[in-house]
Amino acid sequence: MSGFRSVGRNGLQSADFRISPQNDDESSAISSPFSGDAAVSSGAGRNSPRPKLKAAVLGATGVVGQRFVRRLANHPNFELVAVAASERSVGKTYREACAWHLDGEEYAGCGDMIVQACTPEAVSADIVFSALDNEPARHIEPAFAQAGAFVFSNAASFRMEADVPLLIPELNASHLGILAHQRAARGWKGAIVTNPNCTTVVLASALAPLERAFGIEAVMMTSMQAISGAGYPGVSAMDISGNVIPHIRNEEPKVEVESDKILGRLLGEGLDARQEAAKFPVSATCTRVPVSEGHTLAVSVRLKGNPSVEQVEAAFRSFVPDTAGMNLHSAPRHFIVVSDSPDRPQPRRDVEVDGGMRITIGRIRACPVMGIKFIALGHNTERGAAGASVLNAELAYAMEVLRWVS
Ligand code: NAP
Repeated sequence: MSGFRSVGRNGLQSADFRISPQNDDESSAISSPFSGDAAVSSGAGRNSPRPKLKAAVLGATGVVGQRFVRRLANHPNFELVAVAASERSVGKTYREACAWHLDGEEYAGCGDMIVQACTPEAVSADIVFSALDNEPARHIEPAFAQAGAFVFSNAASFRMEADVPLLIPELNASHLGILAHQRAARGWKGAIVTNPNCTTVVLASALAPLERAFGIEAVMMTSMQAISGAGYPGVSAMDISGNVIPHIRNEEPKVEVESDKILGRLLGEGLDARQEAAKFPVSATCTRVPVSEGHTLAVSVRLKGNPSVEQVEAAFRSFVPDTAGMNLHSAPRHFIVVSDSPDRPQPRRDVEVDGGMRITIGRIRACPVMGIKFIALGHNTERGAAGASVLNAELAYAMEVLRWVS
């Protein structure tokens, strides 16, 4: 552990943070999901001599799709060869089809690309990043997997399927081992890998150190979710300005089941691999607040053995992610950061640090009902969407899962 002052967006210094050992501070290795394969060693992701894989973005004009395009415009492992969206956009330039609203170069330099239809016939790529809504994703993503592409999806459509990994690389990298089973069972040449709901990413990341150190008995969580989570144009300014909306359609059921799958185990290997979920109940209340980026969660947990606040804080600070030493391009320098300040984390001050890929924890204290309570913050459209999916693909690339690409 070391004292650390982090410099945030606009050069503002954020409050005192102390850092646990994280990604590039450690030199550990995790095994490839293929039995008999060599372990993946430090540095497998960055500076790889392997050729870039061709990548496409489905739903490229939307809130998440734009972030994909920006992340992939100059990526060391993947080359963006196609952007695709709905019939409304097909045939237009990306510039014409898309209301670009990110910082940096407009359209990430891809404004002249022609938007394609979301079909494997129109889009030829090794890997496909999906920022589609759930309904179109349900039939479009399997079509790409059937045609031989590896689909890294943000949509909820396949997250809870027994043979689909619901991946957070730092927590459950081994779950990629279910893919051999998935491809055989479905007869796909490619595969589908999903990332969690944007609130679940923050919750599961915060719970993982506690599940590993103590075991979790129950969780209660209330979220304060950013408006960007509703897509574009999303919630109207008239509805959200100076307001809190205490309901987000279909959100709470996802948050209540996804953490158990993520924090579960992969049993067996190869065609016999299966996923076994963790078994703690989660009670979620999800609200929309007038914040542009960043979901803030107030979490109460009941832990086995009733550990002290100091023990819980030590568990957060000492957590070592599965990806430690892998040097994945989009991985945050520090995955979980504990703030010592009583008024942090705050979305405006903390959410963009580390490329929006960090989880910030604060206000760890005793809870008279559940034992422990704290605040957790994460970036919904980066850690909870585009960044998460690209990191999943980088993990698969580093672990040589993508060697199946046809
Ligand atoms: P969005 O801004 O509404 O964008 C939706 C995209 O999907 C657009 O590119 C749209 O293309 C395309 N699309 C819509 N219907 C289509 C169809 N029938 N066929 C092909 N393309 C179609 O939504 P978003 O916020 O980016 O969310 C995208 C996905 O990510 C959703 O599944 C969402 O649940 C998930 N997600 C979002 C967040 C977040 O914080 N926003 C976080 C995690 C996960 P056109 O422009 O041509 O209509």
